[in-house]
Amino acid sequence: MSVFSHPDYDGHEKLVFHRDADTGLQAIIAIHNTHLGCALGGCRMWPYANEDEAIADVLRLSRGMTYKAAITGLNLGGGKAVIIGDPHVDKTPELLRAMGRLVNSLQGEYVTAEDVGIGEEDVLTMAAETEFVTGFDHRSGASGDPSPFTAYGVFRGIEQAARFQLDWDTLAGMRVAIQGVGKVGYELARLLTEAGARVYVADIFPDNLKRAVADLGVIPVSPEEILRQPAEVFSPCAMGAVLNARSIRELGAPIVAGSANNQLDTEEDGHRLAASGVLYVPDYVINSGGLIEVYYQYFGADRQEVLRHIDRVAAETLPQIFRIAAAENAATSEVADQLARERFMSRPLAHTDAA
Ligand code: NAD
Repeated sequence: MSVFSHPDYDGHEKLVFHRDADTGLQAIIAIHNTHLGCALGGCRMWPYANEDEAIADVLRLSRGMTYKAAITGLNLGGGKAVIIGDPHVDKTPELLRAMGRLVNSLQGEYVTAEDVGIGEEDVLTMAAETEFVTGFDHRSGASGDPSPFTAYGVFRGIEQAARFQLDWDTLAGMRVAIQGVGKVGYELARLLTEAGARVYVADIFPDNLKRAVADLGVIPVSPEEILRQPAEVFSPCAMGAVLNARSIRELGAPIVAGSANNQLDTEEDGHRLAASGVLYVPDYVINSGGLIEVYYQYFGADRQEVLRHIDRVAAETLPQIFRIAAAENAATSEVADQLARERFMSRPLAHTDAA
């Protein structure tokens, strides 16, 4: 399939296809937009069935990074890399170093980090070949896992959504149904229980469910029921595409606010949620805490600055989206896209908060 006529091609600035015969590396880097700054986005390693699948993935993922950076006021563009291969079989230090050299060849136009199949150790291996990597803590050498910051942002976003939709000023007594208690969902459940919320959780991985129940005293629910659980908030923190025509009819909560990427099955589902009176907190806005942390790791700011920035997105950007959507009878997802586009399409930088 040709790239320029690909359904997921969205005016991307650059695609780099690379094969390294010595190490077997086959990789694609997609740079969607660099109006606001260098393109930052993780590197995914996945056994794609074919090249078209890899191209579609890298095109969609890199576009999403542009929107996320723009709406959160970061001076970053959007990019992403994919390595075609099975991380459990094909990943070698040599292959990762070859990937590092490929990233380096772009001289900072694209900065890479972890994603599915690529962990912190792998990023460190790439860092032997290039300075254009993040996802480990340059400040202290400590773990660069951004999940706690993602969870913190979701927590703050839930507070704002509850205030707007339900006029609730406290999370005490609020019922929140979390789908998936992995890295983000567990930490979110912890923050919510500490705030006095009544937390229901489901997970298809029994060990994760048991851990959350034992550590936090949350209430287990089956994976089939969590979406229907009567609650104030449904928080998808597992996989994407959970919101579709059928599941929206079954929702047990008037607010959807979670960390999962690409929660809407189709754009139309954003409109369906609005028409059903459900406040949908756009995924790439509420889950941006991790990107904000990775950005500051790379540019070397301190933790307080990271938290302040996440608080600002929750306290200013989200209510702005809710208000516009209510006033214009529009879907929150549509409003978020529009605001993001306005920012990354305009030059010079209009309202930049970040360094
Ligand atoms: P994770 O793999 O640590 O956790 C996901 C959990 O969901 C796992 O425990 C898994 O067993 C469970 N799960 C999967 N399918 C399920 C289902 N159908 N029902 C119930 N549970 C199910 O992943 P994570 O890092 O916590 O990320 C969660 C989501 O948030 C993902 O969509 C990810 O893309 C998104 N996200 C994460 C970050 C981050 O900083 N980690 C940042 C932005 C977005």
